[in-house]
Amino acid sequence: MSEKPEHFIDENGIRLDGRRVDEIRPMKIEIGVLSRADGSCYLEWGNNKILAAVYGPRELHPRRLQRPNEAFVRYRYNMAAFSVEDRIRPGPSRRSTEISKVSGEAFEPVIMIQYYPGAVIDVMTEVLQADAGTRTAAINAATLALADAGIPMKGLVAACAVGKVDGQLVLDLNKPEDNYGDADLPIAMTQDGEITLLQMDGHLTPEEFKAALEMAKKGCEQIFEIQREALMSRYGDIEVVPVAEKEEKDSEESVDVLEEQGEKVENLDEEELTDEEIVEPEAESDSEDSEESTTNAETEEDEGEKDEQ
Ligand code: UDP
Repeated sequence: MSEKPEHFIDENGIRLDGRRVDEIRPMKIEIGVLSRADGSCYLEWGNNKILAAVYGPRELHPRRLQRPNEAFVRYRYNMAAFSVEDRIRPGPSRRSTEISKVSGEAFEPVIMIQYYPGAVIDVMTEVLQADAGTRTAAINAATLALADAGIPMKGLVAACAVGKVDGQLVLDLNKPEDNYGDADLPIAMTQDGEITLLQMDGHLTPEEFKAALEMAKKGCEQIFEIQREALMSRYGDIEVVPVAEKEEKDSEESVDVLEEQGEKVENLDEEELTDEEIVEPEAESDSEDSEESTTNAETEEDEGEKDEQ
């Protein structure tokens, strides 16, 4: 690890990497880079390199983990063994488990999980090269992979960190600022400014904390613009339909479809409410079908465990 620098900011207000205190590192984005994922994004932010992939929505196994009224967003943050100076032991760690949990929660207010009951949406983020700010970089990549997968969202999520060095607040910490600074405050927010992730290391006064939130907000606004441009260059002119209007339109359309296909829908309802679907899990082993689904569930679970190892 490099030595602690004597100063992080020079007399002209310029940081060690040439940025001003309120400037983010250059960000480069490519959407749709993985052909077998439903959505994907490769993002470089300074020297961070992140790959995000989205699979789903698809049926969640084992079934006992299904949520009857909404989809389960399963977020994974992982650092590749070769992503840091000292090789990391492969597999989940306390740190990656915590980051996965809070990062997944950062998407809760935007993903319209109510459209996919019983389903899982897997969001997998891989840090290929780490240089401070990887959890925020992964969130920025994940939101674009979700959009690329066509997951209905009320808006995007952006994330960046604010820290404190030489007694001053700085936006988007670089490695020496992260390692030796006095505070590190990663924040994620929606386009409405709702904070969906907030963690903190170190110390800030209440005034500094308030100012840090403002700084993070400005950083996220810049990132939203970069994300929007990346989506526009991938998908051209997107017709932006406000959510309320979209829901109204969708429900009008579904009424038309229901009227046209009344009989079909009735049949589907009957099919969906077969005994198999409503038996209690304990009773399932009595039926052949459910035995099969238990086997599938176990297989999936085993596979999951293997993946983890
Ligand atoms: N880091 C490392 N080994 C680890 C964890 C982190 O070398 O096991 C480095 C990596 O460059 C990372 C930085 O330390 O970006 C800061 O880590 P932190 O836990 O603050 O998370 P991040 O800022 O990446 O979200």
